[in-house]
Amino acid sequence: MSAMLDLTVPPSVPAGAAAKLSLVGRDRAGLAAAMAEIGVPEGERKMRVSQLWHWIYFRGAREFAEMTNVSKKLRATLTENFTLARPEVVAEQVSNDGTRKWLIRLPAEQTGEKPHEIETVYIPEAGRGTLCVSAQVGCTLSCTFCHTGTQRLVRNLTAEEIVGQLVIARDRLGEWPGASPPRKSGLPDLRIQGAIVPQAERFITNIVFMGMGEPLYNFDGVKNAIEVIADGDGLSVGKRRITVSTSGVVPMIERLGAEVGTMLAVSLHAVRDSLRDEIIPLNKKYPIAQLLDACRTYPGVSNARRITFEYVMLKGVNDTPADAKELVRLLQGIPAKINLIPFNPWPGTIYECSDWETIEQFSEIVFRAGYASPVRRPRGRDILAACGQLKSETQKLSARERMALRAMAMTD
Ligand code: SAH
Ligand code: SF4
Repeated sequence: MSAMLDLTVPPSVPAGAAAKLSLVGRDRAGLAAAMAEIGVPEGERKMRVSQLWHWIYFRGAREFAEMTNVSKKLRATLTENFTLARPEVVAEQVSNDGTRKWLIRLPAEQTGEKPHEIETVYIPEAGRGTLCVSAQVGCTLSCTFCHTGTQRLVRNLTAEEIVGQLVIARDRLGEWPGASPPRKSGLPDLRIQGAIVPQAERFITNIVFMGMGEPLYNFDGVKNAIEVIADGDGLSVGKRRITVSTSGVVPMIERLGAEVGTMLAVSLHAVRDSLRDEIIPLNKKYPIAQLLDACRTYPGVSNARRITFEYVMLKGVNDTPADAKELVRLLQGIPAKINLIPFNPWPGTIYECSDWETIEQFSEIVFRAGYASPVRRPRGRDILAACGQLKSETQKLSARERMALRAMAMTD
């Protein structure tokens, strides 16, 4: 039995509208280019961009007709030439605990290719709500424990497609603080029984790049998307509430801190190079010592802004008490948080998740070293059970479940 309720979502792009480009997801320069394209005089563009920004990213407008402070004539020209369409949501799932997942279809890179699909997951918790977004379709790195790495199709998402994931989530949650009258949630009832609803001002308070793909291999797309997402006049999710997770692309870590300034998460998963080389092949290029040096000098790192180290628990591979002790030793001197992630199995994998007692033992050592309790037990377990049940289903479904688990295993 799956705890998920499937809802059918009508396509967000009406037939015939495909030829026009959407302005959703564009940064200010992109909107200015659109203004130029339709002949808005240069001196007027900045003001028009601000108006569009406000309507698209603060009020969540879906039609240019809503933009009452924009002249009728310009509204008509905009409608003729552009849309405010979102990427297409092909499936939405709502779990009993309030977790939501959207399957999003994106255009193929080459004609004749199947359209690409990505997942975006929303995880509500008592004090916050986290949106887990994807940075690529598939991944070029082939970490042995990760299903995404086995996917054949790979492409970078555009900045617009990354921002689009947040816009879709806001639409479906009915969360547009600037909208008046308030926009309705796309769901029958947001506060379904038993669901967790964040006791925070907003439903979406945090964003993590822990979905599909290696965000630091799509540096420009991710950077540009974050500039739009963090902008205080629009979507307004601050950079300290955005976490980028990397498998260890060392040269880009410094740039992430200096040019973007978000929080950093590092998928460590092994404490010796011999093992890390095997499970994260990128380690051969950037070994543990180099990776940890980049963390030590990450611009902006401090006790108030710690780096999250992710550690997936693989039975008999990386889960001994000696591994735990070595982990703690390696991280000495780095302001760090540790997330232990129960391994989420997928069809064909050679790995198993560590036993619960082993995870507890590992967690205890980490805890005694001064790191807050790092495993999300109840919900992680709940989903793990669901995963086991979904094992025989399609790979897509299993990939989806994996993402939810991963995101749920995170702690602040
Ligand atoms: N490519 C980036 C971000 C996406 S993966 C990275 O590797 O960090 C997000 C997290 O999920 C990473 O820590 C990744 O190692 C972990 N992960 C991948 N496959 C997993 C699985 N089957 N079970 C549990 N965690 C997994
Ligand atoms: Fe790519 Fe991250 Fe999966 Fe490794 S763990 S294959 S880097 S998505």
